[in-house]
Amino acid sequence: MQRLHQLQIPFADITGMFLTHHHSDHVVGFIDLWLTGWIGRPWGKRSIPLKVWGPEGTRQMAEHLPLAFATDIRVRSGNYPAQGVKLEATEISEGLVYDQGGVKVTVFEVDHGGEALMAFGYRIDYRGHSAVISGDTTFNENLIRHAQGTDVLIHEVTMAAGAAVENEEMIRRIGNNHTFPQQAGEVFARTKPRLAVYTHLLLFGSARAEDLIPATRTKYQGPLEVGEDLMQIDIGEDLHIKRFAPSEGGQPPD
Ligand SMILES: [Zn+2]
Ligand SMILES: [Zn+2]
Repeated sequence: MQRLHQLQIPFADITGMFLTHHHSDHVVGFIDLWLTGWIGRPWGKRSIPLKVWGPEGTRQMAEHLPLAFATDIRVRSGNYPAQGVKLEATEISEGLVYDQGGVKVTVFEVDHGGEALMAFGYRIDYRGHSAVISGDTTFNENLIRHAQGTDVLIHEVTMAAGAAVENEEMIRRIGNNHTFPQQAGEVFARTKPRLAVYTHLLLFGSARAEDLIPATRTKYQGPLEVGEDLMQIDIGEDLHIKRFAPSEGGQPPD
């Protein structure tokens, strides 16, 4: 929500969200989008239901959140559109899940610690271009299949350095859930994106963000960036990467 605000994107303009998995750090912000988007300040209110697509557990979440926030919803209901606080949940499985206005969203299964937790990656296709988001996953062949020929592959990464490497039990646990740079390098080498971007940097011990690209180079020599908040990538005949400059943003309108 802070990032949307910095980019001056009205909260109510976000009318749907795709979830990758139900780890709390990936969904707690959803509540803010849902309720603050309804209230809408400093922009307009949302007057239509908020759609949410995700794996098993999404419907249960959408059913129970209104109970958790029943008091807030009751006291505000007189002043805000009744439809805007509703949630419309769809539990999805592998395949094409959204096809509107030329935008196609395809969901595919990844491996985030085994079958106990269903986790998804997403591929977005539009006008002959595409981006793939890995979600949280370890090295995964299904992702490599779905990411073939994509323009931009946004992939999670984890790295340990220093004393943290000696904790074998921890390294094994991390490795079951997340992707090391050498493994990501193999993913990039086999999918050949026009640009690979790291996101969700999970760094242990003395590992630093600037270590990620050198550690990937043993397997992949192509274009690679370490993602940062508010980075913007325009995908067309050319690829443009823009980092956010606060001075350009100015103040959001009242
Ligand atoms: Zn996770
Ligand atoms: Zn995560």
